Amino acid sequence: MEHSILQVVLDTPLATCFDYRWTGEAGEPRPVAGQLVLVPFGRREVVGLVVASREKTDVPDAKLKDVIAVRSQLAPLSSTWLDLCTFASEYYQRPLGEVAVPGLPKNLRIPKTVALDRALKKFGKANDVCDASPDQAPRLNTAQQHAADVIAAAREFAPILLYGVTGSGKTEVYLQAAAQVLAREDDAQVLILVPEINLTPQLENNVRMRFPQLHVATLHSGLAEGERLAHWLAAHLGRARIILGTRLAILASLPQLKLIIVDEEHDPSYKQQEGLRYSARDLAVWRARQLGIPIVLGSATPSLETWHHAQSGRYKKLELRERASKDAVLPKVRLIDMERDKPAEGITSTLIAALRLRLERGEQSLLFLNRRGYAPVLACDACGWISNCPRCTAFMVLHKPEHRLRCHHCSLEQRIPRHCPTCGNIDLQPLGRGTQRVEEGLQNIFPQARITRIDADSTRRKGSAQAAFDSVHRGEVDILIGTQMVAKGHDFRNLTLVGILNPDTALFSHDYRASERLFAQLMQVSGRAGRAGQKEGGSASEVLIQTRYPQHPLYAAVMAHDYDRFASGLLEERQQAGLPPFLYQALLRAEAKELDTALGFLKQAAECLQHPGIVINDPIPMTMTRVANVDRAQLLIECASRPALQAFLKEWLALLREMKTRAKWSLEVDPVDI
Ligand code: ADP
Ligand code: ZN
Ligand code: ZN
Repeated sequence: MEHSILQVVLDTPLATCFDYRWTGEAGEPRPVAGQLVLVPFGRREVVGLVVASREKTDVPDAKLKDVIAVRSQLAPLSSTWLDLCTFASEYYQRPLGEVAVPGLPKNLRIPKTVALDRALKKFGKANDVCDASPDQAPRLNTAQQHAADVIAAAREFAPILLYGVTGSGKTEVYLQAAAQVLAREDDAQVLILVPEINLTPQLENNVRMRFPQLHVATLHSGLAEGERLAHWLAAHLGRARIILGTRLAILASLPQLKLIIVDEEHDPSYKQQEGLRYSARDLAVWRARQLGIPIVLGSATPSLETWHHAQSGRYKKLELRERASKDAVLPKVRLIDMERDKPAEGITSTLIAALRLRLERGEQSLLFLNRRGYAPVLACDACGWISNCPRCTAFMVLHKPEHRLRCHHCSLEQRIPRHCPTCGNIDLQPLGRGTQRVEEGLQNIFPQARITRIDADSTRRKGSAQAAFDSVHRGEVDILIGTQMVAKGHDFRNLTLVGILNPDTALFSHDYRASERLFAQLMQVSGRAGRAGQKEGGSASEVLIQTRYPQHPLYAAVMAHDYDRFASGLLEERQQAGLPPFLYQALLRAEAKELDTALGFLKQAAECLQHPGIVINDPIPMTMTRVANVDRAQLLIECASRPALQAFLKEWLALLREMKTRAKWSLEVDPVDI
């Protein structure tokens, strides 16, 4: 019999490894780092990850527990994968177990192995011969070809910004660069990240058509557990050559990874907003550097971080200035001054006329409004009552088709009151306008039009978003109304008009990133129009923005499609104001039943450690202080040097963990919502 001590990390908030004794039969291979094991933990049996093995332990014999089972049927996770998790754990200041284990498919983390064994059997032994066969690929234009060649030629770490206007054919560049990489080595893997789960089907289709013989795996939160396991295994075993996924795919095991592509790299959804608050884009860059491979960050409106790196030469910038489809040009953007052209049903007469023209010509239109529900507030004119959420610093949103008031922050639902709860007035008024109300108003204006709304409410059922997008692509929809869900990535071929209903609110936000985001969003959604080029007798593509501030410089930049100038201006402002990317930040959040508890903890935290160069701001309540009956506050830490900030955080967290408090707290490195 053989013995050894295995150091195992588990999915617990305790920042430590646990020692277990492994006893094997003679000749049985000793488990190695990267292997999964089933171990007793408290009264449960849990799956953990071996990070090291050794001969001795400080744990007394009586307390030392035995490994129950080794998942020897599963090839160990590689040391590079472990290093990636270790980096994320250190950088984001979370225990390694909490980083590495929860990202694994659930079927790997349960005591039973039936599902795993069955899934493994399906893969069988034979490795299918894979031949990347770029059939039916369109001929790239010169700029695209150059970009694809530069990407494919890079054989070492090469961060590349693919800066291409909407519709410039970035996807085609990704696919043809990938084809070259896949053809070169017959086990190479390519990872393509997209910001939204709803964009995976479109891309998956393109990829499968282009590479009919290759195994393609998808990884996103919408997969059933069985699928998730199968796809994860395909990636881990090296069978899947192309892996498409949302942000969580960046932590997948990809033993032969040779190229990473991050589409719409600026998109906020690459940032995980709970638990391990990582940036999938940043981890992707780290992973590419670790493996010495190229990484492509694609966008028409790169994040300022990426733009800054491209300007300073740390990232290589490849540019696609023109739309790829024959005759397609960027749409003309016009502002509609809402002070002059007063809207009815939220829509100005100019926009109505433009919609009517599209209806007559059988072309599609898109109306973009980033606010779901019917109206953001229900109010009583008589006494001033408004539909506050009893549990949050927020309004309950009126959802008319569902006959509900809903809080979008704590999910509380109520029936719509028949009369004012305070004064009994039966004439309650919806204030403002969400997508449901726009849909209703539009149907009154155009009773014959086929109108579809796509937002989080209309697409709750699994598969319903895809069905809705498919019907738009099939031409069964005249006017599409939607939130940011419709703004990204979709290649609508018959859409010639985009109307943007109410973008002004973001102009005056406290968040210094708001204008960067608004600009990106407007460019993205504008980019849905005119992707196929003007048809004979058809309309030129246009974008109409309804605003009360037609003089605002942000709109001037959108009209000029001038990201360069806009970004340079913003970067200059950020530099002068001492904001990211010229400064590094971390945010300590605390929440408690009483605001004072949260603030008290943050105050104590702010005073417990000082370092030269580290700026600790005053603790403040969050803008939306109360959510679900919990009060929230935050403390911002700033530093001009990333390593110095990292060193401080490490020391600081050790102290925070020792503090006694009733507040629940968490730390976020590189926060995006402040
Ligand atoms: P982006 O991601 O840059 O917004 P897409 O990759 O969606 O743009 O491409 C826009 C459209 O142009 C797609 O319909 C695509 O099929 C088409 N396209 C891309 N490259 C070419 C090309 N070289 N020739 C003709 N059409 C192209
Ligand atoms: Zn009232
Ligand atoms: Zn609420």
